[in-house]
Amino acid sequence: MLLVIYLFTATAAVAQTKDSLMVAAIIKEATENSQLENLANDLFNGIGPRLVGSPKMQQAHDWAIAKYGSWGITARNEKWGEWRGWERGISHIDMVSPWVKSLEGTQLAWCPSTKGKTISAPLIILADVADSMAFQQWLPNVKGKFVMISMKQPTGRPDYNWEEFATKESFEKMKKDRTEQTEAWRKRISKTGLTNKDLALALEKAGAAGIVGSNWSSGFGVNKIFDAKTTKIPTVDIALEDYGLLYRLVEAGKNPSISVLTDSKELGMVPTYNTVAEIKGTEKPGEYVMLSAHFDSWDGATGATDNGTGTLVMMEAMRILKKLYPNPKRTILVGHWGSEEQGLNGSRAFVEDHPDIVKNMQALFNQDNGTGRVVNVGGGGFLNSYDYLGRWLAKVPGYYKRGLETRFPGTPAGGGSDNASFTAAGVPAFGLGSNSWLYFSYTWHTNRDTYDKIVFDDVRNNAVLTAIMVYMACEDPANASRDKIILPADPKTGEPGKWPEQKTPTRKGGVN
Ligand SMILES: [Zn+2]
Repeated sequence: MLLVIYLFTATAAVAQTKDSLMVAAIIKEATENSQLENLANDLFNGIGPRLVGSPKMQQAHDWAIAKYGSWGITARNEKWGEWRGWERGISHIDMVSPWVKSLEGTQLAWCPSTKGKTISAPLIILADVADSMAFQQWLPNVKGKFVMISMKQPTGRPDYNWEEFATKESFEKMKKDRTEQTEAWRKRISKTGLTNKDLALALEKAGAAGIVGSNWSSGFGVNKIFDAKTTKIPTVDIALEDYGLLYRLVEAGKNPSISVLTDSKELGMVPTYNTVAEIKGTEKPGEYVMLSAHFDSWDGATGATDNGTGTLVMMEAMRILKKLYPNPKRTILVGHWGSEEQGLNGSRAFVEDHPDIVKNMQALFNQDNGTGRVVNVGGGGFLNSYDYLGRWLAKVPGYYKRGLETRFPGTPAGGGSDNASFTAAGVPAFGLGSNSWLYFSYTWHTNRDTYDKIVFDDVRNNAVLTAIMVYMACEDPANASRDKIILPADPKTGEPGKWPEQKTPTRKGGVN
């Protein structure tokens, strides 16, 4: 009996030592030989934004394959669909009257080209009409003009700036005015009787020269840059400051004109991919632990934090694991997904196309909310997640989980990022939640999502944490339980709560 106890403790002690040696080696490699800055410079500055269907997205996939190859890791691009191919070119936007000023702005994704021509025309503000009939009567007024379809923001200062310096009364007054103006503008659009898309098409059909908007992101100098709805005329976004200038000139009857040149190439339908890389397992090669981060981005900037930093975390963790743990017990996979931004398409396709991998997946770790240190980990609605996730997390040294909050058993992700695609298929899939760094106002889908916003020490922290979690998940003698919590009933209907359903991806995108 004593001997048995002795042997048991001895084995446990050996495992303990082995784990702590591995953890120490991971930290040493991540700290002393970090590749994060190099990878970031290659991907965000060398290649740039990664819009689905763009040549840059393809370039990024090919770069990732070559990079993994240089680390001795097998990687492949898996085709999952096709998308409207479009290549962004030059955007030039200037005020040419009543005085001259280069304006800060850019064409939206998939914006039609002006075919080498610079279009100069006056501006008109979308009218506040009584109803859809009145809108149709007003519509001919847009002919030959750039139509302004966003409201004029009352302030270009973010709320935190007001909070610090304004009197309480003026801050409250500004917020009240802004809320009223925002609501009035929403009504102005809705009274046209058209959706945003149909409104853009109606303006185009009525002979507008182009569409001008300003999608302010509530911070200094930040606008969100999404996609154009027009098919022939340009749609551009102009920074709050310049948009406000034009709007106030129109209101004052100064009749401003702008000139716009948007260049781009239509490339027809092009294939779309996920990049998948693999370190083959030795003891249980048919079981998988997966790292996950979407690879695509919007293209108003370079997608440095959405989801460049998630991509860096997963690539760096793979590099470190291959170097220090080349013969994992279970197979390690990484998925760099295409077209997350249009509805988790790449990861949904992977789940659909690889039922055997999905069925045998021990765990998946996804990161997709910016550059910050991971401070939130939940159990994703898996009943016994505390048991294994807690055990794996326990091996992460305190320094790498400062401020980390856990929620067990948590709730299943219904969307938001690619872990949801796997959750729906019953895979213990977890989102590694970063601290904010004002992600949603300053970088998420904005024109300022660039290299300089990356906090490399935080990204390094996350690469260490991820590598340790993946190592632990691979080594665990037990399989992670997939038992689900019973979800609370819908408070309105009293119906029992339902686990999120698996959804089909869009396999042919960007077509009308
Ligand atoms: Zn994202």
